[in-house]
Amino acid sequence: MIAGVDRDGLAESLVELIRRTTSKLPDDVIKRLKEYRTKEEPGKMACRTLDTIMENVDMAQSASRPICQDTGTVTFDIQHPLGARQSEIREIVKEAVVAATAKNYLRPNVVDSLTGEIKSDNIGVGHPVIHFEQWDNDYLEVTLVLKGGGCENVGAQYTLPQPALKAGRDINGVKKVVLDMVVKAQGKGCAPGVLGIAIGGDRAEGYAIAKKQLKRKLDDINPNPVLAELEGWVVEQANRLGVGPMGFGGKTTLFGAKATTLDRIPASYFVSISYMCWAYRRRTMTIRNGEVQHD
Ligand code: SF4
Repeated sequence: MIAGVDRDGLAESLVELIRRTTSKLPDDVIKRLKEYRTKEEPGKMACRTLDTIMENVDMAQSASRPICQDTGTVTFDIQHPLGARQSEIREIVKEAVVAATAKNYLRPNVVDSLTGEIKSDNIGVGHPVIHFEQWDNDYLEVTLVLKGGGCENVGAQYTLPQPALKAGRDINGVKKVVLDMVVKAQGKGCAPGVLGIAIGGDRAEGYAIAKKQLKRKLDDINPNPVLAELEGWVVEQANRLGVGPMGFGGKTTLFGAKATTLDRIPASYFVSISYMCWAYRRRTMTIRNGEVQHD
C-alpha cells in the first residue's frame, strides 16, 4: 500500500492523471489565455488564432483526447512519504504510461536516439522522466507535466556576460538575454507561451530548476520583489515585440514568466530558460489515506 492505495488503485489514478493532463488545460492557464484574448483586436489574426486555440481546448476536453498531437516529454514529479518504495512506484508509473498510450491519451512519442526506432508504448531509456522526493508529509503528491518538442527546442541557456547583447552579470543582463531568447523563438514554439527562468546554478541544475518554475500557478506572486519585477517586465516587453499567437503578429507573445535563483560559483553565471507553449499541460493529484484528489 502507498498512501493507503494498493498497486492497482495507484495505477488507475495515474492513468486518470494522464487523461486529465493531456486533455484539459489547468484553470489558471485557461483564465489567462481568455484574459489575453480580450486584449487583441476582434477580427484580427491574433484574436482569431486565440479563438481557434480555445476551440481546440474545448473539443479536446469534451472528447478526452490530446490537446496537441505532440503529447511531449512525460515528466512526473513525485513527492512521497517515508516508507514508500521508489522502485515500486516507478514500475506502477510505467504501467500507467503504457495503459494511457493504449487508450490514446498519449501518442507514441519516444524514439531511440541511435536507431530511430519508435517505442510504441512510450517506455524508453529515460522515459517517462520521473523525479522523486521523499518528504515529511503523510501523503503522496504527483505532478505531471507534458511538454512538447516545439517549445522544448526553443529553450535556451546563456552565460553572462554576453558582450554582443551588452548583457552584464546583473539583473539587467538577465533581462537582456531572456528577451533575446523570446526574439529568437519567434515563429517557433507555438506562442503564446510561458517562461520558466533560473538565474545561477550550473548548466544541469539551471535547466532543471527553470523547468520546475512551470509547476507554479500563473497567478502566484513571487515573494522576492526583484524576481516579481523581472517576471512582470519580461511579459510586458515580450508582448511589445509583436510576435503574437503562433507568430502571426499581435500583443500576446507571452502569458506568463516565472523566475527563481540558485547560488552559483564565482566563475559561472548561467541564465536558463525553459519555454512552455500555449498547450501548457500540467496537473497534480494527491493521495491521502487512500483518497485520491485531482486538481
Ligand atoms: S509546441 Fe506545443 S502546441 Fe506546438 S506542437 Fe509542440 S506541444 Fe503542440
